Amino acid sequence: MKIGILSRNRNLYSTRRLVEEAQTRGHEVRVIDVLKCYMNITANDPTVYYQRSADQVEPVAFEAVIPRIGASVTAYGCAVLRQFEVGHTYSINESIAITRSRDKLRAHQLLARRGIGQPVTAYAHSARATDHLIESVGGAPLILKLTNSTHGNGVLLAETKKAAEALINAFRGIGSDFLVQEFIKEAGGSDIRCFVVGEKVIAAMQRKASKGEYRSNLHRGGTAEVIKLQPEERRLAIRAAKVMGLDLAGVDILRSAHGPLVIEVNSSPGLEGIETATGINVASKIIDYVEKDSQAGPNKPRGR
Ligand code: ADP
Ligand code: GLU
Repeated sequence: MKIGILSRNRNLYSTRRLVEEAQTRGHEVRVIDVLKCYMNITANDPTVYYQRSADQVEPVAFEAVIPRIGASVTAYGCAVLRQFEVGHTYSINESIAITRSRDKLRAHQLLARRGIGQPVTAYAHSARATDHLIESVGGAPLILKLTNSTHGNGVLLAETKKAAEALINAFRGIGSDFLVQEFIKEAGGSDIRCFVVGEKVIAAMQRKASKGEYRSNLHRGGTAEVIKLQPEERRLAIRAAKVMGLDLAGVDILRSAHGPLVIEVNSSPGLEGIETATGINVASKIIDYVEKDSQAGPNKPRGR
């Protein structure tokens, strides 16, 4: 097959591994930087053009694409992906599902509508009712999240009501949307990353925050190890990915006193942490799935 990997950087571990495994299986694979793509939006000939160099532009076409679109280029990256979709190119994750996953509020609402357990969450922009907002999630300690951030950067723990008020006021001051969320203390700074491909969890790891930290992101010095999932956790991860319409997803779960809760569904889950922690060849399982699923027929909108 001709496979395109939509990634800004061919040297990233995840991109390299996907290229490697695709080639091992005899596919022709190419890495395409979405920011170097042009599109002509016409009904009868939807083409993606790729700028190889300053004076070299060529049309590109694939039988399947694997989007690895970074959070900072979501809008344009999804536009390029949509153009491939208009041309009936198979994509393991469709643009609509990636867009859903990148907007934390939208994702929360979609998951809630389908009964997926999540920490109690309230959402605000510049509402004045700070007290009510804090009370609505059960009071301090609580978690505040800027809605457009990754790697735990926009995630803050307010231990007291006073701290929560100060942070909410600061977020208002910068005009940013944010979430106020129940703090799941009993998770003990750990979360579980379930790597979902198709309707299976193909690998799972537990991430533990470093000492004195409550965020378990590996980018923040968290450590990872293999974990055996409870059947309920496995089902939850698969359902969460399905509701978002993602065939490839990293579903992050907290173990709370009232059962597993989904905190995030990532549409470009990294491969390095999970392959290293579990020893599972995740890249190969992704290519395997692309081979099978792309034969199943034209793209259809997934999730709801
Ligand atoms: P990001 O997308 O920036 O990684 P997350 O929402 O995944 O943000 O949060 C980062 C980390 O913070 C999680 O991996 C988890 O360890 C911790 N965390 C997030 N939400 C909560 C919560 N409600 N209660 C306890 N810990 C949380
Ligand atoms: N690669 C990041 C992760 O696995 C996030 C990607 C995304 O925002 O979809 O945590």
